[in-house]
Amino acid sequence: MSNINLSNQEFDRQHIWHPYTSAVNPLPCYEVIGAQGVKLTLADHRQIVDGMSSWWAAIHGYNHPDLNAAAKTQIDAFSHVMFGGITHQPAVDLCRSLIEMTPEGLERVFLADSGSVSVEVAMKMALQYWACQGASEKHKFISPRNGYHGDTFAAMSVCDPVNGMHSLFKDVLANQIFAPAPQTRFDQVWNEDDILPLQELIETHHNEIAALILEPIVQGAGGMRIYHPEYLHRCRQLCDQHNILLICDEIATGFGRTGKLFACEHAQIGPDILCLGKALTGGYVTLAATLCTEDVALGVCAGEPGVFMHGPTYMGNPLACSIANASLKLIQQNHWQDQVAAIEIQLKQELTPLKDHHAVADVRVLGAIGVVECKKTVDVAKIQRHFVDQGVWIRPFGKLIYIMPPYIIGSEDLTKLTQAIATGLSV
Ligand SMILES: *Cc1c(COP(=O)(O)O)cnc(C)c1O
Repeated sequence: MSNINLSNQEFDRQHIWHPYTSAVNPLPCYEVIGAQGVKLTLADHRQIVDGMSSWWAAIHGYNHPDLNAAAKTQIDAFSHVMFGGITHQPAVDLCRSLIEMTPEGLERVFLADSGSVSVEVAMKMALQYWACQGASEKHKFISPRNGYHGDTFAAMSVCDPVNGMHSLFKDVLANQIFAPAPQTRFDQVWNEDDILPLQELIETHHNEIAALILEPIVQGAGGMRIYHPEYLHRCRQLCDQHNILLICDEIATGFGRTGKLFACEHAQIGPDILCLGKALTGGYVTLAATLCTEDVALGVCAGEPGVFMHGPTYMGNPLACSIANASLKLIQQNHWQDQVAAIEIQLKQELTPLKDHHAVADVRVLGAIGVVECKKTVDVAKIQRHFVDQGVWIRPFGKLIYIMPPYIIGSEDLTKLTQAIATGLSV
């Protein structure tokens, strides 16, 4: 039973789990009482500039009138209705837009309730695709190291085996094949050797591989690494040559974050299966999507049982779809390309000089993503206090201090973020 006299902070500390946080010895938690534009308001009424977009999601900023209006209109019509045997305008509009805006060839949309679930769906599609063609020996996945694809069990099995959770769950996680992470950086001259380890693994194991799964161009939570488009281009070729499906996880990179609408476009390729999430609803509610080609859809449904065996209760939630539709409309209206390009230029100007700082190992920028990799693991509690005192919200992990602000951020607020990082290196 809980004690009603506890403050919010204290109740939270004693009773509520937070992401990747100890329940016994938790890091401090900040209470937010409001959010508007690029700013969060804390319980003590301080306003801080958000550098995280609530983990890649709030690309248009908080409390946006268009997204609010879409939510309110849909609530007054109907919030939810089951998707089994029923369809509705918000889902039809959303899937139409997604098919139109994503790379050529993706024709079928599965609406999922979170990024991890969309990855589960993608992996299950790939397995069922091969099983239905009598090739059930193709049941493994190959993935570059340093990947991150979510926290559910199939997704975990393709996360980086070292910084993921493999050691803890090794007896229950499916045994997948890992290639070295791509080494050639986005703006370096392509090094042909970079593809060889993956190529050799595929040549050896293609008979047992259902799909190659990766995050195009930017590896997110597995290390914030930014790699050369030619690597992705070669992955597409290897998949074609060896009868392997390509799953692109654009849950973090999708909807403009890297300077292209989808990071696949840097290599001018399209996947067989695409996962989207995070920014899909502009950071309002959870929603994700798995898109696939007509070939994959037909293959999945060709053999017994003839249907795809997945159906979340809240699949195609109309409220989430309506907000997503409003968010996609804003992406078009807001000139995201100009916004992201301006953020990229400023991040390069203001973060690149930090390369010379004695505590810094590397600085990387692409689109509206800025990464400062430190030489040592960052003391999160300490640096977070510094950031809040400087009027910004940045949440580092491991050695990485990184920002991916809302696209609408102005240059003064962006400077606040980069300056807080610069001064934070010395706290
Ligand atoms: C966040 C993320 C996921 C998981 O999405 P959730 O909505 O947190 O389940 C999967 N893949 C990538 C690349 C992500 O960044």
